Amino acid sequence: IKSKREIELLKIAGNIVYETHKYIKPFIKPGVSLLKLDSLAEDFIRSKGATPSFKGYEGFPNATCISVNNEVVHGIPSNRKLKNGDIIGIDIGAKYKGYHGDSAWSYKVGSVSREKAYLLEHTEKALFEGLKQVKPGNHIGDISNAIETYAKKHNLGVVRELVGHGVGNNLHEEPDIPNYGKAGTGPILKEGMTIAIEPMLNLGTHKIYILDDDWTIITRDGSPSAHFEHSVVVTKDGYQILTGDDNFG
Ligand code: MG
Ligand code: MG
Repeated sequence: IKSKREIELLKIAGNIVYETHKYIKPFIKPGVSLLKLDSLAEDFIRSKGATPSFKGYEGFPNATCISVNNEVVHGIPSNRKLKNGDIIGIDIGAKYKGYHGDSAWSYKVGSVSREKAYLLEHTEKALFEGLKQVKPGNHIGDISNAIETYAKKHNLGVVRELVGHGVGNNLHEEPDIPNYGKAGTGPILKEGMTIAIEPMLNLGTHKIYILDDDWTIITRDGSPSAHFEHSVVVTKDGYQILTGDDNFG
């Protein structure tokens, strides 16, 4: 549970992450390299007086994680160029005066297949299904179960090995927030908690593996994967998104 002062800093950090997503979105086009997107994001974050949370985190080399098509999360930006029809997940973290914002969003590159559009639409909706469960007195399992139920209804595979988390002056704090589980189980939400909820859903099965770079996670069956994440604060009667529009004014 965070103090008022901490929540104010988390709002600033979250807003920087949100602004970074908005800033790089117009550059996501066929022909742009992942490293170009990464350096645009890093420069933007630093221009706001923050530092990229991921750079150097457990040795991660870049400011952002960029995961293309069958890559689930933790893709390392390379000189690979985006092609029409790709989808990319960009995970961005920014640290401001010691406090982190964390938000991932998945984007279309040019025009994408109907299947990929379906995956993006329903992974984003799964995030908001999870968010609807965020209020004091509910359990973490209520969030997990809402995401899993929505994903299953739409025939999407729920990645199990990676989870949402608390967020504060550490990028990853307690509690874990799985994207599957039983309603009414796990820690109880309280006003002032700050958490990141992040469904990772696959068009195929839930199975994944890690590439030899020890970072990039890809789907086992080669199917496309999407990732949407917001950091939020639990309020008196619900939640406020720290990494989105909610956080203005
Ligand atoms: Mg993230
Ligand atoms: Mg996260």
